[in-house]
Amino acid sequence: MQLKIILNRVQKFKSFVYKLVRWVGNEAAPELEVEVAERANGKPVCSGCGRHRPGYDRLAKRRFEFVPLWGIKVFLVYAPRRVECPSCGIRVEQMPWAMGKRPLTRAYGWFLASWARRLSWKETAEVFRTSWESVFRSVEMAVEWGRAHQDLSGVQAIGIDEIAWKKGHKYLTLVYQIDAHCKRLLWIGKERKMKTLLRFFRWFGAERSQQLRYICSDMWKPYLKVIAKKAGQAVHVLDRFHIMAHFSKALNEVRAGEVKELKAKGYEPVLTKS
Ligand SMILES: [Zn+2]
Repeated sequence: MQLKIILNRVQKFKSFVYKLVRWVGNEAAPELEVEVAERANGKPVCSGCGRHRPGYDRLAKRRFEFVPLWGIKVFLVYAPRRVECPSCGIRVEQMPWAMGKRPLTRAYGWFLASWARRLSWKETAEVFRTSWESVFRSVEMAVEWGRAHQDLSGVQAIGIDEIAWKKGHKYLTLVYQIDAHCKRLLWIGKERKMKTLLRFFRWFGAERSQQLRYICSDMWKPYLKVIAKKAGQAVHVLDRFHIMAHFSKALNEVRAGEVKELKAKGYEPVLTKS
């Protein structure tokens, strides 16, 4: 079976065809290059507006890294056309396999991004003999896609938490969906101020905020204030650690007060250090 047949099976494009496949690289690090060409009479598509536009010129050949085959690097090679677009000006054409300006194909980007969930980014880069930068770009692409396709309907329970990052009290505010059927990170914001959480609610939208039924957080004051203001209808579940800390403190104050009073009245202060 030829490589072209496999490619047409896993990644076929309407307006492009696979041409010559050849070995490049050297004995120690062999690579495969697959030439890509546009179909005859196929008009290029403007990457700005997504419409068919007349061609303008052609740029030099570019290599786009594809998913490796048996550990052998595979590259698609194509000389992109530029279009003369009445709305966008001179633009590079849209290439359905490309990930913007990145030198990776979308297919490889998704491949690396899915491995980067299981391995560290560094390990992913090492295992597939690519750069940390490529893994980073792939994760970035996957996150951008995920953000653009995120479905926020039906969120009823959220949890708000802060984490410290770096040294010197730098915080991030994290908001999770914690419904029984769906647990996921929804949003991250810098710092843990009132305006941080206000930004979340602005992003989440007033209508969805009104539909929240449960909100879980610790007793950090700025959060409490914003939650009361933006989703006062929701049951606010507070974390056990802070509740118990406050409870113990209050209990101790009462105990100390009682000891004082017992002493003052001439009784044996039985509650001392108890
Ligand atoms: Zn355009």
